[in-house]
Amino acid sequence: MDYTTETLTNLAQQVSEAFKMALAQHRKSGGAAMTIAGVETEFRELLRQMGAQALSQFLSSASGTPAAEIPCRCGGTLRYQRQRAATVTTVFGKIRYERAYYAGCACGQGKAPVDEAYGIVPGAVSSGLAALLGLAGIELAFDQSREWLKAFLLFEVSENTVRSETQTLGALQAEQEDAWCQQSQDEDYLQTRLRATAPLPARVYGSLDAAKVRIEPRARAGKKPEKEDDWRDMKVGCWYEAELVPAARHSPRQRDKCAREQAVFRARQMRYYCDIAEAAEFGRLLWGTGCRVKADLAPELVFVCDGAVWIWNLITFYYPRAVQIVDWYHAEDRLKRVAHAAFPAERDREPWLEQVTTDLWEGRLASVIRACEPLASRCDDARHAVTYFTNNAHRMKYDQFRAAGYLIGSGTVESGCKQIVTQRLKRSGAQWTVEGAVQTARARAAWLSGGWEALCARRAALPLTV
Ligand SMILES: [Zn+2]
Repeated sequence: MDYTTETLTNLAQQVSEAFKMALAQHRKSGGAAMTIAGVETEFRELLRQMGAQALSQFLSSASGTPAAEIPCRCGGTLRYQRQRAATVTTVFGKIRYERAYYAGCACGQGKAPVDEAYGIVPGAVSSGLAALLGLAGIELAFDQSREWLKAFLLFEVSENTVRSETQTLGALQAEQEDAWCQQSQDEDYLQTRLRATAPLPARVYGSLDAAKVRIEPRARAGKKPEKEDDWRDMKVGCWYEAELVPAARHSPRQRDKCAREQAVFRARQMRYYCDIAEAAEFGRLLWGTGCRVKADLAPELVFVCDGAVWIWNLITFYYPRAVQIVDWYHAEDRLKRVAHAAFPAERDREPWLEQVTTDLWEGRLASVIRACEPLASRCDDARHAVTYFTNNAHRMKYDQFRAAGYLIGSGTVESGCKQIVTQRLKRSGAQWTVEGAVQTARARAAWLSGGWEALCARRAALPLTV
């Protein structure tokens, strides 16, 4: 919406005059001199109070002249009762407004058309404020975000409100994902997609990983928690595409990488999903979100993972034709661990490590395995490495993968795991129930996936509970 310069100038003049008067009063009563910071804060508070009043006036006048009767949702008729007051907590704080209220239908339901028109739940938080509370809640511990929000909003919001609004957004994201999952089981829907003419992404990447979350049930009043804290796996998946980073825009780290790998790719359009669930249940999400990004239809589908067995099993089950790649850095790291465990002296270690790393890079898996075998009898790491490289040999054809221009690092999902789980769920003082952890993580995943606006729009369209 646009406002004319004239409108803005007139309003600003009035605000400025009001401020000057208050400032004069402040000085007369011996108040301290103000720096610009003080003036800014005072202005913000003034504008907030004005905003609250203006919004209240706007909503109170929104009913217009009430009709005597309106249709009820049930098909019956509602009769105008009176102007009835309600409150809602908005980005300007809690406001009170009056609106036309209708009742008297046989079904017993009442209705305030203004609330319905604007998606207001009386007594609750407005969807505009909910989006901001959620944004704080996915970033900071709930008690911390309360302090932080007060600095921005200039009024208090309780820790519980931040928690519940954040988790409501997470629950809505879960609902959305569940709808995708159900759709992905629908044969007709899958058929329709085959006939769609929209262009497909040429190459889609997927990664899966997991990170531990500490579940620590909150003690109920006067009672001990039912059981001690336990650690659960938050499984995280990511869909993405890759693009070449132009040489002129390489960071110093990317320049090093380029000298070794010839080309530097970066992930784009990351879409994360997560859950604390058994592998089979998570597989549903892997398939449902995959259909959403057309992973099943894309000419090329590539999974880059740090291969836990459950991960490869799910991928093989849902996407049997996908290219499977063990994350290069994990594979390389295996060799480093063997080298350190098997060769105490650096002069022995370095040449061995350099040779096997080159072999791995060039796709000579047989040589890598042959180099580890003689060490296996005296070194556990080497013994495990032989099994690891043997079992995953087909996922480590790094010469072929590089030739095909595949991204061979799973940094994208690992970074997602860090951002979703470590940076938020492992903050000190966090006490999580499984549900709370999952909902907060889901809301955060939506933000990291560029889905925040869509999620908040769903929150704004929540069905009214009155
Ligand atoms: Zn009715």
